[in-house]
Amino acid sequence: MPGSFRIGKIAGIEISLHVSWFIILVLLTWSLATGWFALLYPGWSPLAYWVVSVLAALLLFCSVLAHELAHSLVARARGLSVKNITLLIFGGISNIEQEPMRPGIEFQMALVGPLTSLLISGLSFLLFWIIRRGTSPLAAILGYLAVTNLLLGLFNLIPGFPLDGGRVLRAIVWKLSGSMLRATHVATFVGQLGAYLLIIGGIWLIIGGNFFNGIWLGFIGWFLLSGAQSANTQATLEAMFKGMKVGEVMNPSPATVPANISLQKLVEELFLPHGWRSAFVVQGDQLAGLITLSDIRHIPQEQWEQTPVGFAMIPLEKLHTVSPQQNFNEVLPLMVAQDINQVPVVTNGQLIGALSREDIVRSVEIRRGLGLEKKVREPLVN
Ligand SMILES: [Zn+2]
Repeated sequence: MPGSFRIGKIAGIEISLHVSWFIILVLLTWSLATGWFALLYPGWSPLAYWVVSVLAALLLFCSVLAHELAHSLVARARGLSVKNITLLIFGGISNIEQEPMRPGIEFQMALVGPLTSLLISGLSFLLFWIIRRGTSPLAAILGYLAVTNLLLGLFNLIPGFPLDGGRVLRAIVWKLSGSMLRATHVATFVGQLGAYLLIIGGIWLIIGGNFFNGIWLGFIGWFLLSGAQSANTQATLEAMFKGMKVGEVMNPSPATVPANISLQKLVEELFLPHGWRSAFVVQGDQLAGLITLSDIRHIPQEQWEQTPVGFAMIPLEKLHTVSPQQNFNEVLPLMVAQDINQVPVVTNGQLIGALSREDIVRSVEIRRGLGLEKKVREPLVN
């Protein structure tokens, strides 16, 4: 993820921090020192409020990390590959590269996160109760961890996708109906419903004069709404292209140009008359790179005559290539996540086709037009 950097490894899983983490750490510490601890425990020294607040904020982030680690470790134990965990403004994101293949795995993977938070809450409360020193800094930190982890666990159990509770709901519907697509639709529908309720609640708070909490609630609602919508779209696309190879979806005759012609010739004889915005560059029968409008723009116009396409193009090493035998569903998330418009399809260095967003959209529309999207092939679930 851009804007994040590695801090270490736990059990072989890379842990990264996003820059937003520092902003929220400062805000949280400040609001704890001047708000929460100051109100609940009057009479400490000013230094004590700040030290306790920094410690409490750091321990809360450790709790979030434990929650994410629980997801990742169960995923890995069930054979899914886990790339890394990133801690950011809302908590954490476990970068689990595949979707679970069976509802049982998804159920365990999703539930273990909130259970970890509830466990930390319970342990903190137990320790708080054992030390019986109601207003000491240690008791204050334990009480804070007990309350926040309880809220973290309960919030994540709301049964709307993409929250953990939504994944649990999806696993249950998936198990009962045998269809992952239908289960995703149900879980994202509940997720959107919950998101709209949060947004309405936020607006209601703002009207009532509680501006800060209203904005915060509305923001969480909006975040959930966009998460639910994109999960729904991706599940629909994945179901539509299930079992299909890249070779079946690709455009078999993408625009190509030789590497040795000048930019002038490329613009005048190919890009302008054909309305192209990009073309793959070939040398003999081998793919050499990709040339786009912005690569041409980087070269001053008076040099177009002398500059060969091969000099201005994005070279092959910087392009992501796929093979025609690859599963289309492996390529789709990559194109979405990295915002790639065109992926060359290559066999033995030879360009045999291309996947573009336009090709995918066209393929979806043709399938819709023919009523093919209803015949989704889904694996049987037991
Ligand atoms: Zn979680």
